[in-house]
Amino acid sequence: MARLGNPQETIRVLQKHDFHFQKKFGQNFLIDPRVLDKIVEAAQVGGEDFVLEIGPGIGTMTQCLGEHARQVLAVEIDKNLIPILQETLAGYDNVEIRQGDILKQDIQAIADRYNGGRPIKVVANLPYYITTPIIMSLFESRVPLANVTVMVQKEVAERMKALPGTKECGALSLAVQYYAKPYLAANVPPNCFMPRPRVGSAVIRLDCLAQTPVEVEDERLMFRLIRASFNQRRKTLQNGLSNSGELDFSKEEIRQAIENTGLPSVVRGETLGLKEFAALADELVKVRR
Ligand code: SAM
Repeated sequence: MARLGNPQETIRVLQKHDFHFQKKFGQNFLIDPRVLDKIVEAAQVGGEDFVLEIGPGIGTMTQCLGEHARQVLAVEIDKNLIPILQETLAGYDNVEIRQGDILKQDIQAIADRYNGGRPIKVVANLPYYITTPIIMSLFESRVPLANVTVMVQKEVAERMKALPGTKECGALSLAVQYYAKPYLAANVPPNCFMPRPRVGSAVIRLDCLAQTPVEVEDERLMFRLIRASFNQRRKTLQNGLSNSGELDFSKEEIRQAIENTGLPSVVRGETLGLKEFAALADELVKVRR
């Protein structure tokens, strides 16, 4: 099978199978071999590694991964792509294709079966419509992960690595940085894809942390506080948390917890980092007791 990753071969394969792009699956296929090399290099894939690829499309990146990794499992939701993948990946004995929704896979079982339970590497040119749910479900499942290297919308990559107190920083920044250290590997323009997306893209590697940067008694509560604060970023922390439908603390409980944390009463949630949110969550647990 010919090497994919260029416009001519991609068009040939798509025409041969009379494939029609499905917008609902966020299908933008890579057609630039330099970008493929950058992704595989950024992901630090080596001959010992098992790689889980999310959304292989017609198998363009999968071929590269198959050449560098010990084994690859590629999970693709679109049934119409499976016969294409069977053809483009024929001869890649170390690549397995699975039809399904990545959000419904048991990733722990995958890590156990393909990597003896050791931390796995995840690589994906993600469908932009579900970037955040996919990344967060990987982290929150607490599956052993070495790194997650993903192509995402450029603004999303910038948000993931934004520092607390900056205008790009949001709930996603703090959530990602609780689990991983982000490293921006490359910016990728729309003309590297077919069809061209309307936005710029970027490759970001998230190196998963062995230990979270802060300790907190109730992790879920901390993330509810983070979301509530950034959902109403113009408001003071106190008003943002009091108005949130996600929380059921009284105004007085929130005031007391903010005071106990040593934060100014008029502080805005958007200026806080993980350390302050963890302290606030711990204080709220105490206040409630
Ligand atoms: N990796 C290919 C490439 O770089 O050319 C395709 C990338 S395209 C942006 C995203 C791929 O993810 C599509 O093939 C799409 O069908 C697939 N996809 C979308 N939602 C998915 C899901 N929930 N689970 C698995 N694959 C999904």
